[in-house]
Amino acid sequence: MLKSAGSAGHTCGIAGFAAIVLVLVACLFATHPAFAQLESIEDYPDVIDARVTATPQRARLIIDLSGPTEFAIVSLDKPNRIAIDVKAFELKILAPADVAGKGIVTGYTVEMAEKGRARTMLTLAEPAQVQQAYILDAVADQPARLVVDIITATPQEFATKVASDLAASNANQGTAPVTAPTDPGTHAPITATRPLVVLGPGHGGVDNGASAPNGTHEKDITLTFALQLQKVLIDSGRFDVALTREDDTYLSLNERVDLARQNKADLFISLHADSFQQPEIRGASVYTRDENATDVLDKVLADGENRYDIVAGFSVPQATPAVMDI
Ligand SMILES: [Zn+2]
Repeated sequence: MLKSAGSAGHTCGIAGFAAIVLVLVACLFATHPAFAQLESIEDYPDVIDARVTATPQRARLIIDLSGPTEFAIVSLDKPNRIAIDVKAFELKILAPADVAGKGIVTGYTVEMAEKGRARTMLTLAEPAQVQQAYILDAVADQPARLVVDIITATPQEFATKVASDLAASNANQGTAPVTAPTDPGTHAPITATRPLVVLGPGHGGVDNGASAPNGTHEKDITLTFALQLQKVLIDSGRFDVALTREDDTYLSLNERVDLARQNKADLFISLHADSFQQPEIRGASVYTRDENATDVLDKVLADGENRYDIVAGFSVPQATPAVMDI
């Protein structure tokens, strides 16, 4: 798979931008589960792994499970936290990885709160709320997982949620804490699954990408385009969208791919706005993953694009074979 049109374009100062290049890595996304009712603690799945990715606008928690389960979510203050309980038999993780990225979730813990109930506690940098939460069945080489998307909230929204969760908890006193699949409030129902699209605005930071005669840099065009595309996709209500960068920062190719993989992206779209020597050439190109990359032009273009990792001091040979393929 490759990223965009080639190195000649990136170094040609006389050329105009000719194309927005979309690189699509399509992955199958899971359909929602129709999991069996969990009758006893012995039936509960194990928590295999957990990870959190955060940006200033949103965060995503993924809990890998040995099978589908039921969950409940509560907001807590002093300090601001969101607790996610899942019906689980036991924890199979030793130490969950640190939060990837910087943003609204600064840390988290995973522990057995009591027999049959694993609690993941997210520490919030600011008031936040659950945008959606859902269970995915195991698919291909990926285990079943709980996905919880967190977005920012106003202090009032957060305080309201804390109060209503507390009231609900008091009303339930004397009953088991997790007794049924729980819809996290006003958000998508438990069976809703929106595929995650990760947008990768090309270049950034010290890596300007191509430059137009008027001095506009490719990195700014790709970011502006990505932010608009994000809005369109989110407004459609059909997709969840994350960006590999939301400002003028540089991410190595490895970091971008890692972000997409950590998020278990269903689709990764790398955005570029390339220049070309002949100004009459315009339009859009879409490249999709080619496992074999037999096309000579594809290879030249991919080599040219991926070479830009060197600009910020990273060398391509460190990349894994899978990344080099992109
Ligand atoms: Zn580019």
